[in-house]
Amino acid sequence: MEHNKDILVRGTAWGGKIRVFAARTTELVGELQRRHGTMPTATAALGRTATAGAIMGAMLKGEEKLTIQVKGEGPIGQIVVDANAHGEVRGYADHPHVHLASNDKGKLDVAGAVGRSGYIHISKDLGLKEPYRGSVPIISGELAEDFTYYFAVSEQTPSAVGLGVLVDTDGSVIHAGGFIVQILPGLTDEELTKLEQAVGMIPPVTALLDQGETPEGVLKWIVGDDLVIHDTLPLAFACKCSSDRVEQTLVSLGESELTQIIEDNGKAEVVCHFCNETYSFDRTQLEKLLDQAKPKPIQ
Ligand code: ZN
Repeated sequence: MEHNKDILVRGTAWGGKIRVFAARTTELVGELQRRHGTMPTATAALGRTATAGAIMGAMLKGEEKLTIQVKGEGPIGQIVVDANAHGEVRGYADHPHVHLASNDKGKLDVAGAVGRSGYIHISKDLGLKEPYRGSVPIISGELAEDFTYYFAVSEQTPSAVGLGVLVDTDGSVIHAGGFIVQILPGLTDEELTKLEQAVGMIPPVTALLDQGETPEGVLKWIVGDDLVIHDTLPLAFACKCSSDRVEQTLVSLGESELTQIIEDNGKAEVVCHFCNETYSFDRTQLEKLLDQAKPKPIQ
């Protein structure tokens, strides 16, 4: 397995009594960092959320997709991540330039940026009429603990979650990755204790990646060799925005608002929150959109 590609592995362990996922998300988080110009603490907060999103996306099927909103009381504001079953992930933070002094463990102070209270909202589009929605209060702000809490409370699936982002002194991303281990029916109390001990003793995911461990190797630190990898999924940043979609958004503003924009500025610039791509429209283009926005005469 290559060490330099973002990849997710899925499998089971201990005779099918544990479901396991692990991911390397270094390129993905690096791209988020560059696109949004996030400062280190914000990079870690957004990167951990994106890594959780990538793994949760891999729990979906077909065209299902999900959105994570981390709405804490901290200075970073809202963090939003979209992910799907194809390993495509995008995301942003309201305030990408948040950087705080290291916490008392000498680590990036993610909880300080996110806040230690607030909510995590997860919405899953499963192709049904209504999306599935789950919300839990933020209990730590470090995010791995918060996603663990989400799985326990909202999905009734006891899980262990590890998320890590290592940022270089120049602000670039050195390593990012994570794991989610979920307990399935049939696990004995003895096995549960063994699992909890292993999760408690595992070095940070970024330390393991730094030693050259693959996502599969990370899982072996937790569950040992009784591990069956079912498949792997490449992960990548992907945004669905396009000129067409932005045009439709402008048209939906309506006749009076569009007229106002043309009169005030004679042009418009729309920036996609998710990828920071700028879409520019000159007067001629805006006037065409205005035509589309005008109510059609009744025949
Ligand atoms: Zn975009």
